[in-house]
Amino acid sequence: MKNDKRTAVVIGAGLGGIALSARLAKQGYAVTVIEKNAEPGGRTGRLICDGHRFDTGPTLFLMPEVFSATYKDLGYRMEEHLDLIRIDPTYQIRFADGIELTLTGDVNRMQTQLEAVEPGSFTGYLGYLNEGHRHYKVSLDKFVGRNFFSLADYFSPANLPLIFQLKALMKHYDNIGRYFKDPHLKAAFTFQNMYLGLSPYDAPATYSLLQYTELADGVWFPKGGMYQIITSLTRIAQDLGVQFLYNQPVEKINVQGSRATGVRLGDGKVINADLIIANADLPYVYQYLLPEEPTAQDLQKKKYTCSAITFYWGVDRIYEQLGMHNVFLAGDYRQSFDRIFNDFTLPDEPSFYVHAPARVDSAAAPAGQDTLMVLVPVGHLDSNGTQDWTALKDRARTTVFKRLAEIGVMGLAEHIKFEVAYTPEHWRGLYNLEKGSAFGLSHNFAQVGYLRPKNRHGRYENLYFTGASTHPGTGLPMVLLSARLTAERIIKENQN
Ligand SMILES: Cc1cc2nc3c(=O)[nH]c(=O)nc-3n(C[C@H](O)[C@H](O)[C@H](O)COP(=O)(O)OP(=O)(O)OC[C@H]3O[C@@H](n4cnc5c(N)ncnc54)[C@H](O)[C@@H]3O)c2cc1C
Repeated sequence: MKNDKRTAVVIGAGLGGIALSARLAKQGYAVTVIEKNAEPGGRTGRLICDGHRFDTGPTLFLMPEVFSATYKDLGYRMEEHLDLIRIDPTYQIRFADGIELTLTGDVNRMQTQLEAVEPGSFTGYLGYLNEGHRHYKVSLDKFVGRNFFSLADYFSPANLPLIFQLKALMKHYDNIGRYFKDPHLKAAFTFQNMYLGLSPYDAPATYSLLQYTELADGVWFPKGGMYQIITSLTRIAQDLGVQFLYNQPVEKINVQGSRATGVRLGDGKVINADLIIANADLPYVYQYLLPEEPTAQDLQKKKYTCSAITFYWGVDRIYEQLGMHNVFLAGDYRQSFDRIFNDFTLPDEPSFYVHAPARVDSAAAPAGQDTLMVLVPVGHLDSNGTQDWTALKDRARTTVFKRLAEIGVMGLAEHIKFEVAYTPEHWRGLYNLEKGSAFGLSHNFAQVGYLRPKNRHGRYENLYFTGASTHPGTGLPMVLLSARLTAERIIKENQN
């Protein structure tokens, strides 16, 4: 019997590639996902070592409604696949001068803490949340949750006022001054821009939506770790008929005229398909997988998000001082961002984040022991610079030990059983991330919405993109939206 299903090849089994492949399979496509690594997930990775389980990338599960919509669209219920635990307090923030703040959805507790730092600031907090709520709802409906097909559409009379309403042209750090005067509070409600790999001195004020969603909709964690998202969606994709090939790097996308015809693998094998969708980082795809074209060079000149030095430590004891999410902010907040985004290095006084998953999920570490993931934001790879990542990694580790000792975490170095560490070079090598940038292309005004690289190639009409460096952007919820938007576009443009 003739198999007349349309065929699609997806390059990369990151969250974007998995979600998109499942959506296409549900629409009747025969989909093959080709992944260079041995397992799916990409940046949403995992590491299991000596009874310790680490999520190597994302640890914050935000915007559950976006995840839930993906499972529902595929015909499943999220609750049957993810056992979500709400994390409250969301984080413990420690400033270099010893001040501490516990961010929580408990309004009374927030009031007491905020008023102690800056009298009258609770009113500012409520105003800030109100603005974040507006930004979140309007963005989801009108900007990040839809495709833009022309500049006229993006800057249409209906959309233009929204750009001002969402404060897309205002810097987040300038905007926070309307709500708080105290520098601790300004930092406590802007550092979250680092989740998008952005400096709050550069990020549009629109991103107050993140703080809103954390405090109002909550920060969550799937029992078993963030990798459960990957395991469950991969299984669903397979149930819908998607084939996954692992350890198979794609070396080239073959093209002819205005079409992509297939992909060539590392072993020389060619797989042809009606549609090609690249989930691998978009600038890398233009640079290495496609025939030379000026867009590849233009993409190199764009702004990129930061990178990260990450440590994964198996520890032979538990330090009660650490909660699930711990944020340590630099004394010189401004300078720490300048060093990352202007000098592409490790700040002199770095901020960092420590994740201790065993606080809510005991299976993440052997009994009486601990699993710690530390993320230190740093500049991305800079071809003009002389970045010594071994030395910078050592300095990052020393700073982490010093700041942790200040809150009573003593002798940590002696209690680390093993260490795995990634630098920007690892991020580049592991997932082909251009410049080792952990979150992909940046999200300044000139690189979002219609101005962000499109989810279909300009010349090859059957070559599409999904993932962090295309519209709408980085972070798991955005990548799930990207998968939906690209799938919708494919279905619409390939109906006949
Ligand atoms: C350290 C870190 C912390 C983060 N924390 C959070 C967080 O707490 N919350 C959150 O929501 N987001 C977080 N993020 C962001 C989030 O991880 C990403 O936005 C998201 O995982 C990107 O998914 P993706 O599908 O776009 O790309 P990727 O995950 O990069 O997937 C692309 C896939 O393509 C594969 N590939 C590349 N080249 C080829 C090739 N030639 N052939 C075959 N396969 C190829 C790669 O191996 C990879 O599997 C974090 C990211 C990092 C790095």
